[in-house]
Amino acid sequence: MASEIPALPQSFAPGTGSVFSDQSGFYSLDANVPGLSKVILNKLNMKDYGEYRAAVEGKAKRVSFRNYKEMFEKMEETFKFCTGCNKLPDHLTEGQTLKRCVKCLNVYYCTKDCQRKDWPQHKKVCKMLRLVAIDRLVEWLMFTGDLPFPTEKWSKPFAEVKNWEDWLPMQGDLTLRLDAIVSSTNMATLWKNASRTRPDDADLRQSLWRLQSEFLSRVLTVGIAIQHFGLDPKSKPLTIHLAGASHNETMGARLTDYDELNHMFPGHQGIEVVMVGPEVVDGPIVRPPLTAFGPKQKVYISAYKGLYHQFWEDLVEKEEAAKPDLVVGFHPGFHANQGLVEGWLPTLLLLRDFNIPSFFTMYSEMELKYSLQILLELEMHIRDSGANPFTSQKPEQVQASPNKTPVNCNSHFICFQGLLPQEDVEEPGPDN
Ligand SMILES: [Zn+2]
Ligand SMILES: [Zn+2]
Repeated sequence: MASEIPALPQSFAPGTGSVFSDQSGFYSLDANVPGLSKVILNKLNMKDYGEYRAAVEGKAKRVSFRNYKEMFEKMEETFKFCTGCNKLPDHLTEGQTLKRCVKCLNVYYCTKDCQRKDWPQHKKVCKMLRLVAIDRLVEWLMFTGDLPFPTEKWSKPFAEVKNWEDWLPMQGDLTLRLDAIVSSTNMATLWKNASRTRPDDADLRQSLWRLQSEFLSRVLTVGIAIQHFGLDPKSKPLTIHLAGASHNETMGARLTDYDELNHMFPGHQGIEVVMVGPEVVDGPIVRPPLTAFGPKQKVYISAYKGLYHQFWEDLVEKEEAAKPDLVVGFHPGFHANQGLVEGWLPTLLLLRDFNIPSFFTMYSEMELKYSLQILLELEMHIRDSGANPFTSQKPEQVQASPNKTPVNCNSHFICFQGLLPQEDVEEPGPDN
């Protein structure tokens, strides 16, 4: 077993331009998607995601939006291109305007002809994209604090809560909590300013649930990972590292974001969650990790901005952060292109050589397949893989190709630990 971080050839050092090119904050689902962040930020004339977020929250010193209407309009503009021929608004001929599909209110076309030709493809996802279009507006309530809504203590032990169908009944009547948000001031502000009519309340309740499920999916996935490796939070405190934490988990993150683990493991000895990634966004969770045990029956969150193997060198090696009992990563996307593999390589080798229980999620079965291939090439000992019972219920649209089948966050997982056991090489012994 290796006792130090493997030295890596220079070529494996992550490049600044390719590996985490989407430093502005948005992730792209496909290697071929032009960084969504670039598109949006260029449109909005903003230099980085922080500025964008500040403007959205109305906290910017230099207010970039005059009002909510303008904010929602600008956000929608990033989706305005012809789904048929990819024409952008700037390239339309005079008198042409992009028309929205009236069914989903999500995709645009330059001409009737483009729409007609695209329909055979689009009709397969139109219904789903209608939901996506609602979600991308309602998601704003995550930043206003209306979401996530509080959850109840678990009435069953975690071993009996195997999926959403088991989790939901423990919450009692969700309608009350959802209705409170449906009738909130921010919800009213949203639809007063969005450039479309307000969906009916049933649609809004479902959208709120989908967004809540995405938030909870991450926490429950950590819980699943704890179970998968047979870790017992009741017998000892646990340190969990979230490697490759992105703006998704850290933007606007609260110190209470992983409190569902308290419901999942009542009476635990203390759970520490350290989010580590180059895209970690400043906020209350950015504070030093614990070096000793944290408070019992509490979840302690901290965050570190940087690559995981650097975090390990800077803090773990120097005993300024506890060694992890478990490392979890949400959609590292190391299958996407060579650059990403290289970016993740030092981390993957580190996890392997230190024999760390590791649990990573993927967006789709295809991504799972490619990721397994990569891990096997690295001689990882794969312990399990498959569909995640706590998949996010919110469909994710591939922004640049809306007709691709939407995917879901955390839909699949792989857990691995250590080196693949070598098959015994038969050596001719004295008895043979
Ligand atoms: Zn067109
Ligand atoms: Zn449509």
